Amino acid sequence: MVSVSQSDTGADVAPPRCPRCGHPVAWAANPARPFCSIGCQLIDLGDWLDERYRLPGPPVGASPPAELEALEPTRGGDSDPKSPRGA
Ligand SMILES: [Zn+2]
Repeated sequence: MVSVSQSDTGADVAPPRCPRCGHPVAWAANPARPFCSIGCQLIDLGDWLDERYRLPGPPVGASPPAELEALEPTRGGDSDPKSPRGA
């Protein structure tokens, strides 16, 4: 009955481009997306592993973040009345 035009479903939009090499990326069924190929994906991964990319945040290493200490429950060994000691 009604034929849906394919022209306004994204066909006119330029395809996404590989952030590594800038080539157009085939998005569907592309296991390496947003990269154009596994090669570009691995090169980018290597840059992350070499610490060429950094995310903003507090410096790591001096002391654990406070939220991690808050998640750790304080346990006194003998204060639990349900512990089966003395059985
Ligand atoms: Zn690429």
